[in-house]
Amino acid sequence: MALYYYVNKQSGYNDNHVVHAAGCPHLPDMDNRLFLGSFYHVNAAILQAKKYYAGAIGCENCCPLNHSDPQASQLSVALKHTPPSR
Ligand SMILES: [Zn+2]
Repeated sequence: MALYYYVNKQSGYNDNHVVHAAGCPHLPDMDNRLFLGSFYHVNAAILQAKKYYAGAIGCENCCPLNHSDPQASQLSVALKHTPPSR
């Protein structure tokens, strides 16, 4: 089933722009998100988001990463090891 995906217009830490699926509790409000389209796979949505923001990554809550993509899992590890901002 295809889902609607959005990317956050505001960059987070590390200059990342987080991609969310519709219905995610972390979805930014209307003014701060960009509609990407409907996709069958989160990787396709992230690829589309990268056309707008090179630092686009999937939300850990709604966009579980495909472990067959080594680059994506590296990004996930990097994100988890980022210390919380003070
Ligand atoms: Zn999300």
